[in-house]
Amino acid sequence: MGMISGKEYKQRLDKQQAEIWIDGEKVCGDISKHPAFKGTVASQALLYDQQHQEELLNTMSFISSDGSRIGTSFLQPKTKEDLTKRRQMIQTWAKTTAGLLGRSPDYMNTVLMTFAASASLLEGKENCFPKHLTNFYETAREKDLSFTHTFINPQVNRSILYFEDSDKPIAAKVIEENENGIVVHGARLLATQGGMTDEILVFSPGGITDEANAFAFSIPSNTDGLKFICRESFVQGESTYNYPLSTRFEEMDSIVVFDHVLVPWDRVFFYNNLEVANSFKNESAFLPFTLHQVVSRQVVKAKFILGVAESIVNTINISEYEHVRTKVTEIITAVETMEALLLKSEYNAELDEFGLMRPELSPLQVANSQFPSIYPRITEIIQLLGSSGMVSIPTESSFHSDIRKDLDQYLQSATKNAYDRVKLFRLGWDLTMSPFGTRQTQYERFFFGSPERLLTEVYGGYNTKPFVDWVEEFLS
Ligand SMILES: Cc1cc2nc3c(=O)[nH]c(=O)nc-3n(C[C@H](O)[C@H](O)[C@H](O)COP(=O)(O)OP(=O)(O)OC[C@H]3O[C@@H](n4cnc5c(N)ncnc54)[C@H](O)[C@@H]3O)c2cc1C
Repeated sequence: MGMISGKEYKQRLDKQQAEIWIDGEKVCGDISKHPAFKGTVASQALLYDQQHQEELLNTMSFISSDGSRIGTSFLQPKTKEDLTKRRQMIQTWAKTTAGLLGRSPDYMNTVLMTFAASASLLEGKENCFPKHLTNFYETAREKDLSFTHTFINPQVNRSILYFEDSDKPIAAKVIEENENGIVVHGARLLATQGGMTDEILVFSPGGITDEANAFAFSIPSNTDGLKFICRESFVQGESTYNYPLSTRFEEMDSIVVFDHVLVPWDRVFFYNNLEVANSFKNESAFLPFTLHQVVSRQVVKAKFILGVAESIVNTINISEYEHVRTKVTEIITAVETMEALLLKSEYNAELDEFGLMRPELSPLQVANSQFPSIYPRITEIIQLLGSSGMVSIPTESSFHSDIRKDLDQYLQSATKNAYDRVKLFRLGWDLTMSPFGTRQTQYERFFFGSPERLLTEVYGGYNTKPFVDWVEEFLS
């Protein structure tokens, strides 16, 4: 079958009727029409349609050995050209969403691609099923399945000494195994787009000590007993003038509950193996390729922010002020630095033990560990440049009311009429100050783990030995 269209993606979602709860109510009917989800579903459908566009076909897809066209996000790169093609695919999609859909399909497709490529790490190990993983990857790419995921336990007690010891599990654990599969009960965090995808990929969090928490599997979102409990929606209305971003890219985040969920054996990748649970992700190809996806998207997002900042500068004509130029230069520096790190990772890519053309890890780790502080700063710059303009933002209805004459007179700017100026400033507001915008900041701070841990990992993984040796040599 191969890659799907936006229409097929929507039809599959509407048909599956996953159990999703929002604001105390169970979602009924088509998810693609629900006010909280329809914007993002439509945006994602657009991404799937892009895969079929004639001029993008070579970037967005490749031909598999059986002749079907597969989305590039599933491509296991064997050459530097493949790696470049992957970046172009990621950035084509990111450009469509201004990098605001953190979980566009390429994110999780990349994750699954890397896990499957590394399946040999599970070979011959207790309670491990490498073939299930590679078979499932084949199925996912053939059907162009979409994924959410949950990789962490509920935030109950994060002390290093904490060990959950309760009759009623909080963190999801295996409570039974039978001839059909394993039975999982408890909860996990935090599935962005939970319920809005075909499947959920579940992996142990790092550093666990209980075998019952050690598992990896994927199941359809509509599996019996699986529930997605959403936060409130940050879609504040239907007008794309008022809410240019939340109407299109409000991804939603959900707590995942497994209520005696049966995971069939053919979907279990491993279970009850602490050593594998604590090592697989780091030893696999997960990190370099997932970070390559992440940083490729972040570069596009930073460029969009630069565009918004400079548009504000031009609109109210503030470029003559030194501090304004310095602030925009901070964003330029972020863009150029992130992009340079990304391209360096590709330049130094090498074939790894799984036969993948692996981008160099360190530059990607540096970029990814910097972005949690870069992002809040560059969005703050938009607020600082926009000043009161960020809140002088009457709604679209105001421009269709009797007060319009006043708005036209008093909200005009150096280069724009009132309506267009407010349109731009509403974009700046939705990007940085609305519930949608502030959630974006929290996302960029935490989605890949706490920023402190990311920094520690840069240090832990960096080969400083040549420089220490050099100093030794210098001293002698
Ligand atoms: C918007 C958003 C979307 C997300 N989407 C997903 C998703 O789709 N799938 C998914 O699996 N996860 C997702 N996450 C979760 C993300 O992976 C976690 O937020 C991240 O790993 C941090 O874990 P935590 O939130 O439980 O924070 P905690 O681990 O509870 O940390 C809370 C605070 O305590 C500190 N702390 C905790 N432990 C330590 C320690 N050992 N040493 C030092 N400091 C410590 C942290 O630095 C932090 O300041 C998402 C998060 C956000 C904010």
